[in-house]
Amino acid sequence: MKICYLPGDGIGPEIMAQALRVLDILAADGIKIEREEGLLGGAAVDAAGSPYPESTQKLARAADAVLLAAVGGPKWDVLERPLRPERGLLGIRKDLNLFANLRPAILYPELANASSLKPEIVSGLDILIVRELTGDIYFGEPRGIALENGKRVGRNTMIYSEDEIRRIARVAFEAARKRSRKLCSVDKMNVLETTQLWRDVVIEVSADYPDVELSHMLVDNAAMQLVRAPKQFDVMVTGNMFGDILSDEASMLTGSIGMLPSASLDEKNKGMFEPCHGSAPDIAGKNLANPLAMILSTAMMFRYSFADEATAARIETAVKAVLASGLRTGDIYEADTRRVSCSEMGDAVVANLKR
Ligand code: NAD
Repeated sequence: MKICYLPGDGIGPEIMAQALRVLDILAADGIKIEREEGLLGGAAVDAAGSPYPESTQKLARAADAVLLAAVGGPKWDVLERPLRPERGLLGIRKDLNLFANLRPAILYPELANASSLKPEIVSGLDILIVRELTGDIYFGEPRGIALENGKRVGRNTMIYSEDEIRRIARVAFEAARKRSRKLCSVDKMNVLETTQLWRDVVIEVSADYPDVELSHMLVDNAAMQLVRAPKQFDVMVTGNMFGDILSDEASMLTGSIGMLPSASLDEKNKGMFEPCHGSAPDIAGKNLANPLAMILSTAMMFRYSFADEATAARIETAVKAVLASGLRTGDIYEADTRRVSCSEMGDAVVANLKR
């Protein structure tokens, strides 16, 4: 397994160091892992003059999977747009054709108080949102702001081809098969023709997955149900714009940004795996960051790119054990738990993996 890892900026190198220690343990247990470091984001701008330099492009294309920590920071916000760290992120996603974004929102029972919702509504929450990442109104043409009859008009185009819908639907059905075989497709077919096509194609694809129970929900209702009774959902699949909003809403149900991993996959399940959070410049360099989203992203890499469920589950079990033992970084700290640093949290996960 060839992994390209990109520590990036801010807390990125600190949390990546902990994920690499996890990989070391797995390698010592016989899993063959080759890994090479690349530059992305602000670090790449500083060292190579581009947020996604050619050397990283070569590494990322040749790898079986990419692990990314986080990019960005105030130091680079003054640069012209093509040089900003976020361009590196968009660049690598586009370059690797990562069209499927998988974001789990899991609330560990020990962290039930971190949510803004009542513990009984969210305790045990385990949702996977599958978001289409390279199409929809974010990329559709024509787009722009133009002057028409002396007045400014803004325009974007919501567009999906049946092939784009079919391939993301397949990812979602496959993911549902690895979980509780329930899939909810979210659209707005009552007003948007594009999403009528979405619903039609998802129903067509469902014929190949008779073992998965498919339901449909309009996006406004889905937004409401996510805060009313989120545990009714298992896997949700939706387009780029609805997914952008719903996945942020779902992830915040867990109340702890330092815990949330994500995966972005291409058609062959090659993927980039990264925490949902950013580079947290306010705590960078202080050994305070929560490394668990990064470590859980590593687990997702084994599950989705390497089809190694046992190793993914082993990492996740170690994380659960550490939480159960009462260790917390600052972002998830509460009374009667023990506050630890980023590297101490890494120590604890590694110790559990060794058992
Ligand atoms: P952020 O996610 O970096 O931070 C938001 C808050 O959450 C901060 O208070 C931070 O300290 C805290 N936080 C985030 N991750 C944490 C962790 N692992 N442990 C403990 N606390 C954590 O969002 P922001 O402040 O809006 O953005 C900071 C920079 O990150 C910006 O330059 C932004 O563009 C970039 N960003 C990058 C990504 C990415 O690389 N995928 C995503 C979002 C933002």
